[in-house]
Amino acid sequence: MKKYDCIIIGAGIAGLTAAIYLERAGKNVLVLESKIHGGQIINTVNIENWPGDLGVSGAELMQKIYQQAIDLGAEVEYEEVIGVVNGDEKIVKTEDEEYKADAIIIATGTEPRKMSEKQTADAGKRAISYCATCDGALYKGKPVVVVGSGNTAKHEIAYLENLASKVYHIHHDDPIPEEAVAVFVAIGRIPNTGIFNGIVDLDQDSYIVASEDCKTSAKGIFVAGDCRTKDIRQLVTAAGDGAVAADAVIKYLG
Ligand SMILES: Cc1cc2nc3c(=O)[nH]c(=O)nc-3n(C[C@H](O)[C@H](O)[C@H](O)COP(=O)(O)OP(=O)(O)OC[C@H]3O[C@@H](n4cnc5c(N)ncnc54)[C@H](O)[C@@H]3O)c2cc1C
Repeated sequence: MKKYDCIIIGAGIAGLTAAIYLERAGKNVLVLESKIHGGQIINTVNIENWPGDLGVSGAELMQKIYQQAIDLGAEVEYEEVIGVVNGDEKIVKTEDEEYKADAIIIATGTEPRKMSEKQTADAGKRAISYCATCDGALYKGKPVVVVGSGNTAKHEIAYLENLASKVYHIHHDDPIPEEAVAVFVAIGRIPNTGIFNGIVDLDQDSYIVASEDCKTSAKGIFVAGDCRTKDIRQLVTAAGDGAVAADAVIKYLG
């Protein structure tokens, strides 16, 4: 079983920033990613609130950060983590492999909240999407519906209004209009933390409990980015967490 100083779970901005800091400190690092590197920002065409870079896309920004981590020596494997065994030495399990490490950083972010069973049944065979930027063009000139009432829903509506023949707007659990051919869901996000339940403390909404020091309730397990309890979930705060968690790992490893 291959052994690392630190295994980082998730190759979003938090995980990749942590990898950069750890590699620069001479630690050997494995980043495990279940999908593609970059995280939830990669489909955003124009990112906001990222100091110093106006009009950059999420994909461009994340490719640069990924390349920086790779050039410094970080290893990235595309495997979903399905479990962790905690001890002085940690074991991280994927479908096909097990890896050992002295420390872990959880940086698994969040995913879109799914519609209720009732609303999913109501959608029937219609397409369901969680990203207007990714899938909106497929429904050019056709009626679509956006489910949700927050800022993301408003953003999805504004985007689709330039493409669709009509954009219906409904709330969580409202019936889906007959005419709509696709359903765009924007009803919030939930943390990817289910596999860590019982290993680290989670709050009532399943976020990993940690303060600005990025330390969890478990020795040698740290957390960075949107999956931890915090007030502001943005790129800069996730990147900041990556640096803080990496620093905590360096001190922990001694
Ligand atoms: C549509 C949208 C627009 C946004 N726009 C902005 C913006 O303009 N400016 C801004 O500052 N912020 C924006 N944000 C917020 C920003 O994207 C997040 O705060 C940031 O990406 C969080 O980074 P993260 O690394 O914590 O998590 P994520 O980006 O969610 O990355 C987590 C990674 O972990 C992986 N993962 C999850 N579970 C596992 C597992 N079991 N095994 C292996 N890998 C796993 C995921 O596949 C993912 O790649 C936006 C978010 C969205 C959804």
